[in-house]
Amino acid sequence: MIGRIPEPRRASLGKVSDPASGAVLDEALVLWFPGPGSETGEDMAELHLHGGRAVISAVLRALGGLEGFRLAEPGEFTRRAFEAGRLDLTAVEGLADLVAAETEAQRRQALGQLRGLLGDRAEAWREGLIEALALVEAGIDFSDEGDVPRDLVPRAIEIARSVEREIAETLAGAGRGERLREGLWVAIAGRPNVGKSTLLNRLARREAAIVSPHAGTTRDVIEVHLDLKGYPVNLLDTAGFNEASADPIEQEGMRRARDVMGRADLVLWMTDARDAERDSAAQQPGLNPGARRWRVINKIDLLDPKPSTLPAPDQFLISAATGAGVEELVAAMVRFAGEAFGRSEPALVTRERQREKLGEVSAALRGAIGGAGEGDELLAEDLRHALAGLGRLTGRLDVEEVLDVIFREFCVGK
Ligand code: GDP
Repeated sequence: MIGRIPEPRRASLGKVSDPASGAVLDEALVLWFPGPGSETGEDMAELHLHGGRAVISAVLRALGGLEGFRLAEPGEFTRRAFEAGRLDLTAVEGLADLVAAETEAQRRQALGQLRGLLGDRAEAWREGLIEALALVEAGIDFSDEGDVPRDLVPRAIEIARSVEREIAETLAGAGRGERLREGLWVAIAGRPNVGKSTLLNRLARREAAIVSPHAGTTRDVIEVHLDLKGYPVNLLDTAGFNEASADPIEQEGMRRARDVMGRADLVLWMTDARDAERDSAAQQPGLNPGARRWRVINKIDLLDPKPSTLPAPDQFLISAATGAGVEELVAAMVRFAGEAFGRSEPALVTRERQREKLGEVSAALRGAIGGAGEGDELLAEDLRHALAGLGRLTGRLDVEEVLDVIFREFCVGK
């Protein structure tokens, strides 16, 4: 179709023609990646066509006429790379996250996963535990031969202990990694008409900040994704709290607002500056344990005289309509996100699946360490469980059930 096979991994210009009719369809750059050094481990070719719809459909039609050609399923390239052992499952998850990353911090974390931040560590743990298991099994196999060194089992337990310690440290940072994938949740709440939507709209209009505004699934919770200096923040505008209302729609809106506030990492409780005194914390719905609440006093442009005192800690005086004070509020949110995500070490665990699997490994290792003395067979069994858990983490074992879930996140062509 292009006459000759180009030099591997070098772009070359060629005429792309239909093998059936011989008609030239396009002039294109062609790249040839022979397996097994390609992304999927198989022979691969890339055609860099002129992107017009007619060009693409003519080339696809010509390719479709060839035996064995079909379009890839979503995620199929990555799946083949995984099946060929070119990527482990944590790297596949990193790749999915990289494609979906909306902010700098998310991009850095996803790239770390793709490049084996967790996968390499898991491989080192696996090697250590295989050694430990070999020590214990040597003790079992040769116990009646009388020439096995006595210290095999203590050495195995020492390895198990050090792997368990490292996994515990890794799990300690898990919440941070999962949160960064998802973004922080910040809810704007307060009584009706205090200016919640006006603030949300103002923040959503900030060109540098906005990532993807879209209406929530319910008509009373609006969600906007912000990129605050690289940190992902999901901002939610909730229905107003009007406890006196008996309207079932308003009641349902309030129930959802309470639900959102219960899950938020930070609640911006907004009041109208003209009756801020009457709005006591006691009337406010409960928060997620560990969540913070800031008081945002809005419409200060309507106050006459202007407030002369400085705001209390965790309190902001703003005008959502004129923008006064909004920069300070945003700067505080950036600091809050920076503290929540930590600027230090990247988190190794970024997904619930990874946390669960490591939890299983850790439990098996604790069994191995705690059960020492109960017999080498049981110790070997615990170590095998730990190894199986690591195998599931990296996708060496029992992967079928998770593969479909993970690869569904990819789009066609990845
Ligand atoms: P929500 O029900 O809390 O979402 O309140 P809205 O954002 O819909 O605002 C209610 C009304 O207050 C609207 O007429 C807004 O224009 C007005 N408003 C909101 N913020 C300000 C502000 O800072 N100053 C003034 N003067 N009016 C505001």
